[in-house]
Amino acid sequence: MNLCRVCGNNNVTEILDLGATPLANSFLKPEQLNDPEPRFPLVVGFCCRCGLVQLDHAVPPEILFRNYIYVSSTSQTMPAHFAAYSDEIVARFARSSQDLVLEIGSNDGCLLQAFKRHNVRALGIEPAANIAGIANAAGLATMNDFFCERSAQTIRDSEGTAKVIIGNNVLAHIGNLRDFMAGIDVLLRPDGVAVFEVPYLVDLLRKSEFDTIYHEHLSYFAIGPLQKLFQSRGMRICDVQRLPVHGGSIRVYVSREGTGPDELPSVEELLWVEKSEKLDLLETYEAFASRVEATKQKTRALLSELKASGARIAGYGAPAKGNTLLNYMQIGRDWIDFIADQSPHKQGMYTPGSHIPVVSPERLLEDEPDYVLLLAWNLKDEILEQQSEYLNRGGKFIVPIPEPIVIAGNAGAGKAANVLQ
Ligand code: SAM
Ligand code: ZN
Repeated sequence: MNLCRVCGNNNVTEILDLGATPLANSFLKPEQLNDPEPRFPLVVGFCCRCGLVQLDHAVPPEILFRNYIYVSSTSQTMPAHFAAYSDEIVARFARSSQDLVLEIGSNDGCLLQAFKRHNVRALGIEPAANIAGIANAAGLATMNDFFCERSAQTIRDSEGTAKVIIGNNVLAHIGNLRDFMAGIDVLLRPDGVAVFEVPYLVDLLRKSEFDTIYHEHLSYFAIGPLQKLFQSRGMRICDVQRLPVHGGSIRVYVSREGTGPDELPSVEELLWVEKSEKLDLLETYEAFASRVEATKQKTRALLSELKASGARIAGYGAPAKGNTLLNYMQIGRDWIDFIADQSPHKQGMYTPGSHIPVVSPERLLEDEPDYVLLLAWNLKDEILEQQSEYLNRGGKFIVPIPEPIVIAGNAGAGKAANVLQ
């Protein structure tokens, strides 16, 4: 295994091998279906020194992020989440309209838009040219670049330092954390706060969310290793919140040592949770790997049985994580006829590796498949609500994570859906 991304230790132990898979967001156009698909190892390791769970193989960021297909505004959940988020940040930290709020990995400007309502001076930095273009076209100032020490210096020269730096769902994507933290150090005002949202390792393990493992996600964070990362630049975590998004995330607030808010009890409380979840022990990850294998066998058995009984099965949601699940579980077109997804960027394309066509959600009512495998399980409530008509007509959803369960609707609403035994 490679050296640990946080502490540089060479004692990273392999804990899970999900096979060699194509990149989770490399959806294919019809004319690409016969081309060879590059595959990359998806092997997860655990650093016995700092506790960071991490991918061994890093695909170059230029390949992953210069053209990007995930658009934050596609779901209803994320804009609502970001609206509340911006309210909180403005109330707690960005009191003057002159304060600069910098968002790293600002994507299509979903959060920048929320800050605009508050009349805050907000700037995004986003390497994907296609998506930074959407934000700029909407009047949301976005620099098209990777965040690193070099680009941070450019921003400081033109905009000054930032009162608030935000990174949502981007820290896990960074291969060179040392360079990234150097950039934060360049740009953060002495009294500034950096706020990062990352999927939380405790939730990943508890709910067996193994499908959130794919090449873009190089690190799977808990508070322990994050503290070591920030300490390496003279910074500390002063507050942390748990959030339901993306299957369970944390939002950490970071300030320079000796300045900023006092450390709140939330930090120590979560460290205790991590201790009681035994995140520091290798055996925790061995048990996780066994659960992942068991989920694969159960899901395959269920789908195979349904297919043998003549059922027609579709999928709902074509998120990146769906492709980890499909490829690891070796589920393809012989079982799943099509996948419905709201994103116009994905419709008309085929899933990487499994080559299942992505179509618009209307197809569910047109075709009325007997079962729908819910790949975007993190948006379950939103999707069941939207598809209440499909459920009313007798359709059923299969939720694969943490364990496959079948949900059938009644009474006309997703909220009234029944879990079948
Ligand atoms: N922040 C948005 C959200 O939470 O919905 C988007 C999250 S998306 C999973 C990750 C984003 O980070 C992508 O838009 C990607 O292009 C961007 N990204 C990846 N590496 C980056 C880097 N070094 N600097 C800035 N953005 C980066
Ligand atoms: Zn380490």
